[in-house]
Amino acid sequence: MQNTNTNTNAGRLITTSKIFGVTLLGSLCLAFNTAADAQTKPAPAPKDTLEFYNVHTGESMTVTRKKGELISDRTNLFMRDYRRNEKANMSPQLFDLLGDLKKSIQKRYPNISVTFKVVSSYRTPQTNSALQRAGGTQADKSQHMLGKAMDIAVDGVPTKDLRDMATCLKRGGVGYYAEDQFVHVDVARVRYWPSHDYLKGLKCPKN
Ligand SMILES: [Zn+2]
Repeated sequence: MQNTNTNTNAGRLITTSKIFGVTLLGSLCLAFNTAADAQTKPAPAPKDTLEFYNVHTGESMTVTRKKGELISDRTNLFMRDYRRNEKANMSPQLFDLLGDLKKSIQKRYPNISVTFKVVSSYRTPQTNSALQRAGGTQADKSQHMLGKAMDIAVDGVPTKDLRDMATCLKRGGVGYYAEDQFVHVDVARVRYWPSHDYLKGLKCPKN
């Protein structure tokens, strides 16, 4: 009986060791696969989530997208010229810029939930002309007519700070509208208005 018991115990021991061997081998394979996956599959691009509130229509929208991704039709509709109910293809670069601007805001104001208040985005040539005739300062070749510009404000962020953070990104035009409390951003060439004076004292964070 004792012999039988010993044999059984030995058998159990071998079985356990085999199971252990298989388990160990399995873990190694898993580790190898993970390493191989890391080499072949690039890490998925992070997505930006942008919250918008249109001050004219009262509509809100959340846009989640990867950098460079085309702008959805739904987003284009949200960004429409509300006066004429016409939409255009909005620039992906503009939304890339807003994604980076949001990151800058979150760094400086970590307790703020960032919602971009949209004062103006797409503008038809007809609306642009009408605003000019009404005494506005809209440019003849406004980037708004190309879907490459947005006038924005963010609750809790002073307009001046928003201007400074947009300026530090150096991605296009930045217009400062102190009285109306919004900032124009576009993705045309880098330029600033109405004044360049603030650039001298501007300290941009190092990334
Ligand atoms: Zn503008």
